[in-house]
Amino acid sequence: MPYSKSETLFQEACKYMPGGVSSPVRAFKAVEGHPLFIQKAQGSKLYDVDGNEYIDYVSSFGPLILGHAHPAVLEAIVEAAQRGTSYGAPCEAELELAQTICSAFPAMDKIRMVNSGTEATMSAIRLARAATGRDKIVKFEGCYHGHGDSFLIQSGSGLLTAGIPTSPGVPQATIQDTLLCRFNDAASVTQTFEKHGEEIAAVIVEPVPGNMGLVLPQLGFLEGLRDITRKSGSLLIFDEVITGFRLCYGGMQTITGITPDLTTLGKIIGGGLPVGAYGGRKDLMDMVAPEGPVYQAGTLSGNPLAMSAGLASLRMLQDGDLYDRMDVVSYYLCGQLQTLFEEQGWFYTINRMGSMFTIFFTEEEINSYEDVKTSNTEQYARFHRALLEQGVYFPPSQFEVCFLSAAHQLEDADKTIAAVEKALATIK
Ligand SMILES: *Cc1c(COP(=O)(O)O)cnc(C)c1O
Repeated sequence: MPYSKSETLFQEACKYMPGGVSSPVRAFKAVEGHPLFIQKAQGSKLYDVDGNEYIDYVSSFGPLILGHAHPAVLEAIVEAAQRGTSYGAPCEAELELAQTICSAFPAMDKIRMVNSGTEATMSAIRLARAATGRDKIVKFEGCYHGHGDSFLIQSGSGLLTAGIPTSPGVPQATIQDTLLCRFNDAASVTQTFEKHGEEIAAVIVEPVPGNMGLVLPQLGFLEGLRDITRKSGSLLIFDEVITGFRLCYGGMQTITGITPDLTTLGKIIGGGLPVGAYGGRKDLMDMVAPEGPVYQAGTLSGNPLAMSAGLASLRMLQDGDLYDRMDVVSYYLCGQLQTLFEEQGWFYTINRMGSMFTIFFTEEEINSYEDVKTSNTEQYARFHRALLEQGVYFPPSQFEVCFLSAAHQLEDADKTIAAVEKALATIK
């Protein structure tokens, strides 16, 4: 496959933008070769500037659950744009999206729209600190909550990919206020609370971590977090930026029946435009300005285009069948891949939940950050490049999840299985 146009554009981009990109993982540093410049996308497919076609398993890192350029979403964006792109004043779409999300998330009495998942988590911990009068937060190794200072400590996503434990530029005082625990290790949480219980404002967690590859919560782990936070007067924040509307029409809190105090959302609720949101109990959310003193604002927050795109997406997802259909395709795909890896004698572990999955190149069971780090990332890098050659676009890091969309059909799965077989043969 020719990649010459992408290569030329990337060289030029590197002169003007750090690493040639606007977000680190896109630079393909953890895999072989250079990033592809995308010319267009449709349904389950990406097309690069050199005219190559790929089945896309990145889905813009999660938001595009309906696939690329879904007609209903496009129509909503165009219709909204014709009425102006930003007002700096409330609009109906914003209210409708708020109503729609709050009815899907019973733990959210009220919600505030922001422009990214990062803004949502930063604002949620500010609110948690204000509400509890405490400064410390607990996060889990390998979980990613955007690029706010407090979260860039043993973080997942691009930091894990680049092997940066804690970003330079984060003040020492901030580092001291972030306590680390191990996901799926209740004892690590108990010990932390025994030592610092009185100082902990909140525990923030991805209820299904998706930024160190896919890790599933073990039975009782999330319930344990609810218990311990309740007992010690800390808040529980579910960061459902990925899982919100990804696993069902609602969040992991819908599936587990756990009621977090605050929830952060992003990705899917923007339908492919930049959005985030945080919300929760009325008494907490009423502390946010202008109702209360906890300040948080945004020039473009509640943007009519983004609100309309999000609303159109959620309306499509209300047809719960979409989740079942994605699960069928994902179950079939992962089952066949498992057979293939098994037959060929690879060390591998596949974690899957609904439309999310990760193939880890390791024979360890994957339940934590420690386990994730046993993966053979060099093998993943070769696999990634070989798959591109076969027209399949996997995430450019072992530690990012593969996302199916409702546009992925069994036919895409079959093509992917054949591509994986060829790719494995070339890297053996
Ligand atoms: C992507 C992500 C974020 C950050 O969202 P951005 O829109 O990239 O700022 C936060 N939390 C989780 C769990 C995420 O996956």
